[in-house]
Amino acid sequence: MDTILRVNDLHVSFRARGGEVQAVRGVNFEVKKGEAVAIVGESGSGKSVTAQSIMRLLPSPPSFVKQGSIEFMGRNLVDATEAEMEAIRGKEIGMIFQDPMTSLNPTMTIGHQITEGLIKHQGMNRSEARERALELLRLVGIPNPEARFGQYPHNFSGGMRQRAMIAIALSCNPALLIADEPTTALDVTIQAQIMQLMKDLQQKFGTSIILITHDLGVVADMCDKVIVMYGGQVVETGTKWDIFAKPQHPYTRGLLRSMPRLDLPKGEPLVPIDGTPPDLLAPPVGCAFCARCEHAMEVCLNHDPELVPVGENGQTAKCWLHHPLAKEVQA
Ligand code: SF4
Ligand code: MG
Repeated sequence: MDTILRVNDLHVSFRARGGEVQAVRGVNFEVKKGEAVAIVGESGSGKSVTAQSIMRLLPSPPSFVKQGSIEFMGRNLVDATEAEMEAIRGKEIGMIFQDPMTSLNPTMTIGHQITEGLIKHQGMNRSEARERALELLRLVGIPNPEARFGQYPHNFSGGMRQRAMIAIALSCNPALLIADEPTTALDVTIQAQIMQLMKDLQQKFGTSIILITHDLGVVADMCDKVIVMYGGQVVETGTKWDIFAKPQHPYTRGLLRSMPRLDLPKGEPLVPIDGTPPDLLAPPVGCAFCARCEHAMEVCLNHDPELVPVGENGQTAKCWLHHPLAKEVQA
């Protein structure tokens, strides 16, 4: 499989009152063509900041990419001009956010917002774009698209807006779709329909997906690979099978115990992880999870472990329990 996105040693910070918040600290991962990758972790772990960095939608200032590169189909998005990014956004990378109102324009009809990209990026004329827009509205399950075409976002229910946003995101067949908690605000039935829709589209068009979610059921259902983030870093990666069946990082184990799962018998009690995430104004010198980890050793306090291979299928974990050099560093 070809790699379409490669994030290398990404560091993103925010200037804040007390100094610099190091929201993303040395993140590496890649997404292959047609692959669906989940990014999971507590809020504040750097998931959304990573996604916004790829789209170059970080509020800047106060935020800035300090170091690293984001290679998308051979281009480094960190260095791309704003004009280049405008051409990439919506055309080659589509995005779906939790709140459709942040990406829909309340003063333009839904039809206009879908056809705009088709005319601008795909070179369609107005009537071709209208035909394609109606087809997309139908595809995302919006009933009576002809009538809906001329309506405004406020005429749509929450679920319908979310579908409209997906129609816009998909209008140009993006190579990569980034969805940041796309269904959190919706009721369960609509959530399931929207996830199914994304899955269908991935299978039909070979779209790569980065899905940021709190819902492990959704991860189990539609993702191939899982990236676990904590304190602005990637702490574990693996196939969904390996992450669910044999998580290796103490944080991943805690996270799995703390989140509702559809793949476990009902009534399994959820166990929250004690303690709070690290202060990213002054990140810990050693392992970021040290203060909350029941396995913490002396080495963990003073030395930050690297991600190392822990399994056969490319699983990696950032933990001294698995690090081949733990004993030497400890000594
Ligand atoms: Fe726990 Fe140490 Fe592993 Fe960090 S490196 S997760 S503190 S055992
Ligand atoms: Mg978020």
